[in-house]
Amino acid sequence: MAINFYDYVSSYDFVPFAELQSNDDFKVISSKQSSLISTAIKEVYKKKSEVTIEFKPETIKKEKTILKFKLKQAHQYASDPDGYLRYKLTAVNGQVFVSNYNKKEIEHDLGVKRYDGIVEIVFSKNLMQSVKYIDFYYKDNTDAWLDLKGELPDSWEHCGRVTIGAASTCYCNRGFTEEEMTNILTQLRKSDDVHYEIQFDKSGNTLYIDKEGKVISSTDTGRRPPEAVDKYRVQKNAFDKEGINIFDFKMEEKIQSKDANINTLTDELNKAFEKYQINTCIRKIHFLAQSYEESQRFHKTYESNPISTLSGGEHYRGRGLLQLTHDYNYEKFYIDLFKKIPTEKELDNFASRVSKELHLAVFGSAFYWKNIGSLKGNISQFADKDDVLTVSKEINGYKKNNALPNGYEERVRYTNELKKIFKYEKCINKK
Ligand SMILES: [Zn+2]
Repeated sequence: MAINFYDYVSSYDFVPFAELQSNDDFKVISSKQSSLISTAIKEVYKKKSEVTIEFKPETIKKEKTILKFKLKQAHQYASDPDGYLRYKLTAVNGQVFVSNYNKKEIEHDLGVKRYDGIVEIVFSKNLMQSVKYIDFYYKDNTDAWLDLKGELPDSWEHCGRVTIGAASTCYCNRGFTEEEMTNILTQLRKSDDVHYEIQFDKSGNTLYIDKEGKVISSTDTGRRPPEAVDKYRVQKNAFDKEGINIFDFKMEEKIQSKDANINTLTDELNKAFEKYQINTCIRKIHFLAQSYEESQRFHKTYESNPISTLSGGEHYRGRGLLQLTHDYNYEKFYIDLFKKIPTEKELDNFASRVSKELHLAVFGSAFYWKNIGSLKGNISQFADKDDVLTVSKEINGYKKNNALPNGYEERVRYTNELKKIFKYEKCINKK
């Protein structure tokens, strides 16, 4: 009787991720199991296990969480289910950790325990945010694997990967999508300039509304103003009036129309935030709140009535999202960009570009935020403490007699509103 080769080897399955023991800390996004891998037939069955898991935002705030895999037989000659098996962990920063047989642990802060075919991986808070993936390898023969350290030799067979990700509901360490920025602006405008407007008919007569909410015609004199009838008021806000049009105010200098859109704004903010480390929710919230106030709801990037004490003269009035002001500040930004000291004419021309080119309007503001400030600089340090008053002073200036910065009430309100829009209470870095 002929022995079927494949029947024979199939009794030595290697299925590293036979069971991923899911719990509330993470969710399995996708899972593909290797059905059969054995060295003898690896060319035929070269399927690899692939599992993608995502840690939930609440989990990432925990000190640690445990991920468990139950292994089937790792190799036909192995006495342990996880015999001849190695794990290699790759972090976002490129750091690699490899399991060591003797210690039965990967040498880093992520502890790995193995017992009865269970691989238990402990993720610290730090690691949950930095791990990219865990690779699983197995070795066919018994040579040179007991004292394995460092990089895995090529002869090890890659048989599966677990990709780890943090559920991205907060804005730390990532850019905004255009959709998210649209939502942020929409919500901000809806929360702003809220009031009730009395409604009138075509002839300008006041309209009334009855108990049931029905509008009463102004010609219906018999029914007004009785009790239970009120003036017809409608709630209006900045969104009703302005939509999400941006940088559209008619000014002497304004953003070029090709850049006056959410797509370009999102793109420039993302790049500037990365470059100047405005990289957590709270920093972004404060930066956007101040920008929103300074640019009159992202409508203008040019100051209409400059102060009389401008260094360098009136030309060096406020420009950009945060109103970069004074010749010496424009010069610092110029040097940061071009790595040279500008001539007077070059600086003159450059200043005008900060209100017209969105790239400069955004980067000039982020540069000011990180490197200048009105007194202490690096405004992120005050954002980190959620200190709106000092952030506002660093943007608007420290006034005599400790008076509040201009528009302080709005700065506070926009900051609070952005916290709601960002769902800041769920931020992975919220203290
Ligand atoms: Zn966050």
